[in-house]
Amino acid sequence: MTGQMRVAMYYSNKDVRLENMPIPEIGPGEILMKIEASGICGSDVMEWYRRDKVPLVLGHEVAGTVEKVGKDVTRFKKGDWIVAAHHVPCNTCDYCHHGHHTACKSLQGGTNFHPGGFAEFVRLPAINVDRGTFPIPEGVSFEEATFAEPLGCVLRGQNKMRIKHGASVFVIGTGISGLLHVSLARAMGAGKIIAADISEYRNDMAMRFGADYTVLSDKDLAANLIKANGGKKAQNVIICTGAIPAIKAALDSVDKGGTILFFAPTGEGQTLPVSINEVFWKKEVTLTTTYAAAPADHIAALELIRAGTIPVDEMITHRFGLADAQKGFRLVAGGGDSVKVIILPQE
Ligand SMILES: [Zn+2]
Ligand SMILES: [Zn+2]
Repeated sequence: MTGQMRVAMYYSNKDVRLENMPIPEIGPGEILMKIEASGICGSDVMEWYRRDKVPLVLGHEVAGTVEKVGKDVTRFKKGDWIVAAHHVPCNTCDYCHHGHHTACKSLQGGTNFHPGGFAEFVRLPAINVDRGTFPIPEGVSFEEATFAEPLGCVLRGQNKMRIKHGASVFVIGTGISGLLHVSLARAMGAGKIIAADISEYRNDMAMRFGADYTVLSDKDLAANLIKANGGKKAQNVIICTGAIPAIKAALDSVDKGGTILFFAPTGEGQTLPVSINEVFWKKEVTLTTTYAAAPADHIAALELIRAGTIPVDEMITHRFGLADAQKGFRLVAGGGDSVKVIILPQE
């Protein structure tokens, strides 16, 4: 006999319904987690990515407490404050052995918690308990702790690109990922940071979190970025938007010897023809990509949050209960005047 719980069921960006589901049963090695805060991610509103699986309960940036532990769980007990990763690596495949944990099949869809973070409770499978559940450091709130995953993704990206101290950085697209990139690059000793977005509101936010200049994305984006950088191209370019013109601008604004991080996916089926001779040849440009965050990235992100290095609490602009999750999705999908939207399932 199980009780019922409330969930926000996702049908589309414009159709998110408050529904009831049974509270998940847990087995050996598993945890029932009570969700206190759950961030809406840009990827939650990528309809093309979700539409084959609807209806479903989304939400993967979760913080809460241990409600119940299954047999054999020794590292956690009822009442512990935790964050949980939805996808975890196998730690045994070739990708994992070579440090590419986020390319692992287990991480890319083989694992998940159930039903999803926009619910009162989730079941953490044993493999997630084993390597994807982390104590929230003392002094960190549930809301701040929801940033472990998004900041972990950003940290992984910047670890891959290895921004040198004093090196210039262009961040194209200043939604929450772009802002976290700006803030992290600033904290890690980057030189001049110039951010670009189509939204003036988000550019203002980028200034607040460490950008030196911002430019509005338009057809002269590359030229404007270079102008803002004193006529120089950038040593690091981070692409946090899937807009093809912005990606073209990134290719045009990276300096010789520079690195481009492709952080965001494009729209479905989009491609980009590039002149190898003009854009890359003789330029020693490095292209790199990251997807998601590995357990080590979550741990490092939590530590950055605990230390106050990245002021994530200041990035939260809206909070809603499960019944108003639809409003939160509308805000994130609309890309208007919001940064981080948090769902509080216990409200
Ligand atoms: Zn996310
Ligand atoms: Zn693996």
